[in-house]
Amino acid sequence: MFYIMGSDQRIVRCARVSFAKDDTVDVERDKRLIKYLYQHKHASPFEHVIIAFKSSKEEFLDLLSLSIELPTFQVYYAGGYAWVNLRNLINAIERLPQRVIEFARERLPTTFAVIEGRDLEETDYSLDFAYLKTKVETSAGFVGLVDSLELGTAMDYHTFIVECPIFVARQWHRHRFGSYNEVSRRYVSYEPTFYIPPYIRRQATSNKQASTDEPVENSSLFVERIKEVVNQAVELYEEIIEHEGAKELARGVLPQFMMTRFYWTVPRISLDNFLTLRTHEHAQKEIRELALAIRDMVGYRGTDRMRL
Ligand SMILES: Cc1cc2nc3c(=O)[nH]c(=O)nc-3n(C[C@H](O)[C@H](O)[C@H](O)COP(=O)(O)OP(=O)(O)OC[C@H]3O[C@@H](n4cnc5c(N)ncnc54)[C@H](O)[C@@H]3O)c2cc1C
Repeated sequence: MFYIMGSDQRIVRCARVSFAKDDTVDVERDKRLIKYLYQHKHASPFEHVIIAFKSSKEEFLDLLSLSIELPTFQVYYAGGYAWVNLRNLINAIERLPQRVIEFARERLPTTFAVIEGRDLEETDYSLDFAYLKTKVETSAGFVGLVDSLELGTAMDYHTFIVECPIFVARQWHRHRFGSYNEVSRRYVSYEPTFYIPPYIRRQATSNKQASTDEPVENSSLFVERIKEVVNQAVELYEEIIEHEGAKELARGVLPQFMMTRFYWTVPRISLDNFLTLRTHEHAQKEIRELALAIRDMVGYRGTDRMRL
C-alpha cells in the first residue's frame, strides 16, 4: 500500500516560488528545471513530495539504520507506514525497497528520468491537481492549503502556502521540523508590498514580549510615519535597481513590514506543536491570526506524543 503527496510539478512550484512564478506551467521548461535542481543540488523543493508505504517494524528499523552511513537520512514510522520525503528517498535510492522505488518512478516520471539519466523528451510529467484547496485572508497576509496526506497518524502531512510580513516569517521558520521554499528578493524586483498595521498596539507590561489591544497615544500619526518610512525605503530600493545595483544588496533597505511568500510542508506532529505555540495568547497577534486560520482549516489533534 502506497500513498504520495505531490508530483513532478509540486517540485517545480516550490522551486519557482523563489522567483514568484509558482503558478506558471510550461511542461518542457518544468522538466529542464527538475534536471537543473537535481544536478545543482538545489534539493529543498524535493522535500515537498512525501511518500508513505506500508512497512513492518523490522523493515523500518533496517531503513532507520541507514542513518549510520547517511547522517542526514530521515525516515519516520507511524500507523504501520514508513514516511519519507523525496529528498531522503533520492539520497537512499539504492537501499530503499524496490516496490517503493517502482511506485515513486510511476508517480514521478520526470524526476526519475532525471535521476536515471534518461531522455526527458520521451518522459511523462506528473501534474499537481491540488493547488490551493482553501485560502483564508487575515489582517497580515493569507494562508492557503495546497495539499494533504492524511492517514490519521502523527506523520500525516500538509502543504501550505503562506503570505506574511518578514518578521512573521522569521518566527515561522524557527519551526524546523518541516520544509520551506520562499520567494527570493535576489531574483524578483517587482515592487514589494507591505503590511501596514491598522494601529500601534501598546506594549504589554505583564509580558515583556507581548502587546495589548489598546492603541498608543498618537497611533494614527505613527502609522502615517511608518508609511512614509516604507515609501522612502521603496524609493531608494528602486533607485538602486535603476542604477543596475544588485537586487541582493538593494533589498537590504526594505523594512521588516515587507510581505514574503513561502511553501511549508509540515508533518502533523510538528504542525500541532506550531498550533500549540502560535495560537497561544503569548504569540504575536499577526502570526496568531494565521495559526488560527490553519487550525480552522485542518483541525488540531494535540501534542500528547511530544514531551518537549
Ligand atoms: C511565544 C514565543 C516566544 C518566543 N521567543 C523566542 C525568543 O525570544 N528567542 C528565540 O530564539 N526564539 C523564540 N521563540 C522560538 C522558540 O524558541 C522555538 O524556536 C519555536 O517556537 C519553534 O519550536 P520548536 O523548536 O518546538 O519547533 P520545531 O523546530 O519544529 O521542532 C519540533 C520538535 O522537534 C524536536 N526538535 C527539533 N529540533 C530539535 C533539536 N535540535 N534537539 C532536540 N529536539 C529537537 C522538539 O521536540 C521540537 O519541539 C519563541 C516562540 C514562541 C512561541
